[in-house]
Amino acid sequence: MKKSLRIHHEQRLKKKRSNYFVSGKTDKQKGMVFITPKLCSCPACGNERKHFNCVTKQEFISDVQFREDLKEIEHQQILKQKSKF
Ligand SMILES: [Zn+2]
Repeated sequence: MKKSLRIHHEQRLKKKRSNYFVSGKTDKQKGMVFITPKLCSCPACGNERKHFNCVTKQEFISDVQFREDLKEIEHQQILKQKSKF
């Protein structure tokens, strides 16, 4: 990434994240929130798999989409076989 683009995104994110609850007022605190915007990883905020040993929401959605894709592929294969006869 070009330096000008990195500087642009740093300024953009620092401005955006200055409104965050955890953001401070000094440049050092703003820099910390820029690098780590999510300071907490407690059971309420953290990864579900890590704390409750279950699939996360994104993993669940991905799994459902994968199963639907498989069904679609099987359906198309059945249609192809029927069209041959
Ligand atoms: Zn938390």
